[in-house]
Amino acid sequence: MADLLSLPSTFVLLFTISVYFASSSQYLFSVNASVTPINYNLYHSSGNLMEEIGDLVRRHPAKLTMETFKSGNKGYGAEVAVVTYCKRERENDERSKFRILLSFGQHGRELITTELALRILSILSEEQHLPSMDLATLNSTLGKLIIKVVPMENLNGRKLVEGGDLCERRNGRGVDLNRNWSVDWGKKEKDYDPYEENPGLAPFSEPETQIMQKLAMSFAPHIWVNVHSGMEALFMPYDHKNTTPDELPLQRMKSLLEEVNLLHCQKHCMIGSGGGSVGYFAHGTATDFMYDMVRVPMAFTFEIYGDGTASSKDCFKMFNPTDPSSYNRVLSDWSAAFFTIFKLGPHQLDEIHSKALDRLVSIDEYLDGYLMDRRNRYGKKMEVIELGMQEVRIYFRLFLLSLVLLMFMFCSRISKSKCTRPIVSAIPL
Ligand SMILES: [Zn+2]
Repeated sequence: MADLLSLPSTFVLLFTISVYFASSSQYLFSVNASVTPINYNLYHSSGNLMEEIGDLVRRHPAKLTMETFKSGNKGYGAEVAVVTYCKRERENDERSKFRILLSFGQHGRELITTELALRILSILSEEQHLPSMDLATLNSTLGKLIIKVVPMENLNGRKLVEGGDLCERRNGRGVDLNRNWSVDWGKKEKDYDPYEENPGLAPFSEPETQIMQKLAMSFAPHIWVNVHSGMEALFMPYDHKNTTPDELPLQRMKSLLEEVNLLHCQKHCMIGSGGGSVGYFAHGTATDFMYDMVRVPMAFTFEIYGDGTASSKDCFKMFNPTDPSSYNRVLSDWSAAFFTIFKLGPHQLDEIHSKALDRLVSIDEYLDGYLMDRRNRYGKKMEVIELGMQEVRIYFRLFLLSLVLLMFMFCSRISKSKCTRPIVSAIPL
């Protein structure tokens, strides 16, 4: 009886379970069907890409050199390869050259950026050519530069992507390398998602970030570009707040970005501060550190491609062009954009320096400019200096006056002592 009574309910239960499994398998099927796999007909694997770059460097030893930096902690190790472009015309002329540091592949899933690194290096080696720039212009531009290229900052994260985790952007142990720097590190917004933005246990906890920090501090570049994908934009500091630097720094960065937007982005790239334009604040980013701490005069984050129509799970499609024509277009447009930067960047800095020198006609003006610049860069912390500007001017004048007096006293003592010094024989003792 009990068995007979339970028959219909068992049937209902079985039916429900089968419908559930059918629908969930259909769901799984539909998700899998909409996820685009990495197109290895267009893209290199990380191993092939680094091998090809190594071969390129070996074929052009007069222009390209490569170093690999290794670091690690708590059982996690990472290595970062750095390719240097420098045409040595004279010995030891590296320090007089204009220095540019470019990083690609900081986020694992943004494969197109590492392809761009290879394209730029191929053009620098002159194995590939830019249709928009003749060789004479290219050579005169490049003779003044030393360019360091990090083709794949996050090799471990990239390997996870290649292993099937197509949405992974973090490093090999789940830390976002663009949140692991010390400027405004660790602050979390309301929509904080550790899968996307885990900043690590402390600033510079990650070997990759440590390597990049040392590289940037020792190289002291004039231009830094952190190359990403997910949208099309040309960002300047700051990422952690809705403001840009003021006056001269803003002017030099903005005019360079506007030129790049006009020439290579058909004016549709977004320009502005990362924090003000992207729709969220990012804390502990590389570009904010480069600008504030390394004092790189022109520090940028470029976003070179994004497919807004792709579903949020379809990361290869969202962050990378999937067909040959868009792939080639992105690489041609953006390699040309970088060569525009190589050409215009040094002029930009010279021009603005000369304008700045024209403007500095008095100590008072210099002091005003210097103090205003400091105040703007550090916000409220320096306001006290603005209040005391008048006093600072007076103290500075007094300081100069006392310096002159001291020098006078010192010189008069020396001349006295020279006169009274006994004449000694020039014969060695
Ligand atoms: Zn990114």
